[in-house]
Amino acid sequence: MDSKIKRRLLAIMLAGILTVVIALSAVSIGRVLNQKKPLSALQAAAQDYGTIKLDCNYSEENHTLAVNQTTTYINHSTQNLYDIKFHLFGNAYRENAVFPAVATSEMERAYPDGFDAGYTKVTTPHVIINGADETTLTVPLKEALAPAASIEINLQYTIKLARIKHRLGYTKNAVNLGNFYAIPAVYDNGWQIYNYSYNGDPFYNEPYNFDVTMTAPAGYQIASSGTEVAPHHFRGYLLRDFAMVMSRDFKTLTREVGNTTVTYYYLNDEIPDISLYTASNALAYFSNTFIDYPYDTLSVVQTDFSEGGMEYGALVYISLDVTDQLQYQGVIVHEIAHQWWYGLVGNNQIRTPWIDEGLAEYCTAVFFETHPQYGKTLSNTAAQNKSSIAMFESIMDEYGVRYTRQMLKESNAYKMPTEYTINTYARAMLLFYAISEKVGYENLNAALAKYAAHHCYQFATVQSLTQALEDELGYDLVNFMNNYLAGRQDTVL
Ligand SMILES: [Zn+2]
Repeated sequence: MDSKIKRRLLAIMLAGILTVVIALSAVSIGRVLNQKKPLSALQAAAQDYGTIKLDCNYSEENHTLAVNQTTTYINHSTQNLYDIKFHLFGNAYRENAVFPAVATSEMERAYPDGFDAGYTKVTTPHVIINGADETTLTVPLKEALAPAASIEINLQYTIKLARIKHRLGYTKNAVNLGNFYAIPAVYDNGWQIYNYSYNGDPFYNEPYNFDVTMTAPAGYQIASSGTEVAPHHFRGYLLRDFAMVMSRDFKTLTREVGNTTVTYYYLNDEIPDISLYTASNALAYFSNTFIDYPYDTLSVVQTDFSEGGMEYGALVYISLDVTDQLQYQGVIVHEIAHQWWYGLVGNNQIRTPWIDEGLAEYCTAVFFETHPQYGKTLSNTAAQNKSSIAMFESIMDEYGVRYTRQMLKESNAYKMPTEYTINTYARAMLLFYAISEKVGYENLNAALAKYAAHHCYQFATVQSLTQALEDELGYDLVNFMNNYLAGRQDTVL
């Protein structure tokens, strides 16, 4: 059967099953989140965090974004600081980048019209730009910044966007603005500076409050992190990333889930009601299961993106390239799960990407297990992951290519994207699945709720995750985790 016809049939089937469920669930989704904290609680918590103000001006003719950025940086460390460092990932899109945005094997998918370079040109004087691809920006301070003191830093720069289906770039359909601004690095016993990596999401960010304006040519609709307080003026609190997607062709559907407005921006979707339904249900389920989603908006944005999806604060990209309907719904759930795992509960995605990816994969499978209308169980997903790993290893063995089962590697240390994906997604999902097999997924959900409450707006580590699960589940998990992460995945809990 032609796969297009098969997909169409599946879409119709899913539409039929889910339309009934949507009608039945409309009331219950609203009910789930009624005890949500008012926005002022978020604003109150936000006062201890820095602010990033971005005034942006997009030129459609030149594909450039001029940015005036004012960062209020608070020294949360116990040491005097003599400089402030930022990541400038617009430079990962340069020609001949040492750490390019896209792996060689993915170039055709990301650059369907051929390679096109992007870069950031900083015009602020007295700043230092270095790193292999000039992705580090240092602002020397005239005098030391004492612990708990804050400083305002102004930066001006212009980003030339590449024609690329990626986090930052433009296509004929949309302009993706992810990780575009100067992102303050984390100071933790020294500045934590990393190169870009085409494996995974090379980000390790603290939450900030954002105030963003965009001047764009008439006709552009803007999907954005945060709330639109005036036309093309957005505010967001305690977001680990701020992203926007602009298009002249968006259609939108919205739905209220508790105190949150979920907006689905789409370009080509035969069953947009169902995509919005999935997004709303995922938001309600994770909110109810872990901790309340604190923001008053969630933008689910279908756009050109060479990988399945990408998570930002209160905004997710869903790739137009995902044409299998069930897989598409799975990407929506996975990216929304990231609102908790990496968004609210941070982790170092370069050093421990398996934490947020493993949790997002595992929680997506639990979502499907608890929403039987999709016909996908937790044990099905675990079996699929086991067979993906077996297939990967047998192919590697056949060609005599060495591979690792080690999960505690920096994302750049995996030789190929598939090796990264197998360890960070499939094995990590199976790690949480093994725990759920022992204690039951409901008990693991309860433990993850405590873990989320304990680490909200902070960073989790392997140790703090293990400790949180041990405290709640009453099992000694240290040996199991150590062995599993070191590549001995046959370790029994
Ligand atoms: Zn993910």
